[in-house]
Amino acid sequence: RLEVRNMSRRIGDVTVVDDVSLEIAPGQVTCLLGPSGCGKSTTLRMIAGVEMQDRGEIYVDGELVCDTVTRVPPERREIGLMFQDFALFPHLTVAGNVGFGLRGSRADTDARVGELLDKVSLTHLSQAYPHELSGGEQQRVALARALAPRPKVMLMDEPFSGLDNRLRDGIRDDTLAVLKEEGASVLLVTHEPEEAMRMADEIALMRDGRIVQKGAPYNIYNSPVDRNAVAFFSDVN
Ligand code: ATP
Ligand code: MG
Repeated sequence: RLEVRNMSRRIGDVTVVDDVSLEIAPGQVTCLLGPSGCGKSTTLRMIAGVEMQDRGEIYVDGELVCDTVTRVPPERREIGLMFQDFALFPHLTVAGNVGFGLRGSRADTDARVGELLDKVSLTHLSQAYPHELSGGEQQRVALARALAPRPKVMLMDEPFSGLDNRLRDGIRDDTLAVLKEEGASVLLVTHEPEEAMRMADEIALMRDGRIVQKGAPYNIYNSPVDRNAVAFFSDVN
């Protein structure tokens, strides 16, 4: 479970993230949706622990990982990350990439890698190197690698934007199925309403650093909070 309480961040004169609160249950997918520059990536980076907020608290499974005094380092937050560029290790095989963050006996890590490669349908490519893979295959390696250590929270920043249009819907559905099986609390950042409508249990609509509306996709789509929200959603059908 992820809980963010009243988190803010100022950069220069601009409040880039303004009093953001979120609560995401295990197995729940929340999409942080909003136009370019509204503060989505900054929000994600603070939760990941690579950027510091000025105010607010972050809890993972009820445990405080960050406020203005406490600061658990990123690698100890039990948070998985996936970004637009998949940032695979070029010198490691697919299996090597997926197993990279795992601790424990060889038998246990091999079993976990095997399980994930099966889930993302890459067993046949386990000994291939990233440069030998298609974009969609690289995306699946990145997903498997992020999920391998069983993170309690999964943060995804525009994880489909580099992919071929024709493949994207299928990849979104496959990714969602794997996320649901693994059961982490997922926060997925996107600027595409269509993607949020397709994937989210809950949408948090962001503008100018603030969350202006939060709710089930159907409710947000049917009862937009204001004119800006209507305009933003107008290209979904
Ligand atoms: P996009 O959809 O384009 O990725 P975003 O919603 O992820 O946008 P952020 O990257 O979080 O937006 O940036 C929010 C705002 O904060 C932007 O106006 C950006 O220029 C500004 N910003 C972010 N980091 C810094 C920084 N280190 N220095 C100055 N301004 C910054
Ligand atoms: Mg961004």
